[in-house]
Amino acid sequence: MAAEKNLVRYLETETLLNEFFRAFDYCLKTCIPGFLEKSGGKPVAACCKNRYHVICDLDHPAYDRLRQEREIRFGKPEEQAIPADPVSPCEYHGPQGCVLKTHKSPICVAFMCRKSIDTLRETYGIFTYDYLGVYYALEWILTGDLSDASYQEFRESIEAMTRQVAHPSLPDPK
Ligand code: SF4
Ligand code: SF4
Repeated sequence: MAAEKNLVRYLETETLLNEFFRAFDYCLKTCIPGFLEKSGGKPVAACCKNRYHVICDLDHPAYDRLRQEREIRFGKPEEQAIPADPVSPCEYHGPQGCVLKTHKSPICVAFMCRKSIDTLRETYGIFTYDYLGVYYALEWILTGDLSDASYQEFRESIEAMTRQVAHPSLPDPK
């Protein structure tokens, strides 16, 4: 069924982007420690300052399907434990950050702030990460509106960025 194929593609792309963010390692290594220093070690929200999984998602069956799988694995928003002193209105933001290891909404997968994008440009010479472009590509993968060729191209561009940040001195074979 097309909807299932689209969801599988979406989750594969989420995995590729997670690998890219892991290799880049900017948020946890450079940004969050600064916030923690200012908060005296108390939990921080950094950029998770809204219920983005609600406000940015489309009213579309493909999003309902993603949400259904998310809630099977991680629970519904209203079932999340609310911290005594919450730092974010997002129900999925726990003391250690987002509790969703997979099945995030497109905006939550794609987002990079200006500071992190500037670092990607200045340190690795990667000028191709446009977070709204990535957001829409994820949306279209989920809804089935991205062509097979564009999907393949998008995957390859993420893999190329990951290689570049993981091994910046190596020439890209592609
Ligand atoms: S995206 Fe930006 S603000 Fe959010 S955690 Fe990463 S570096 Fe910090
Ligand atoms: S779902 Fe996760 S990534 Fe998205 S806003 Fe909430 S805490 Fe942040």
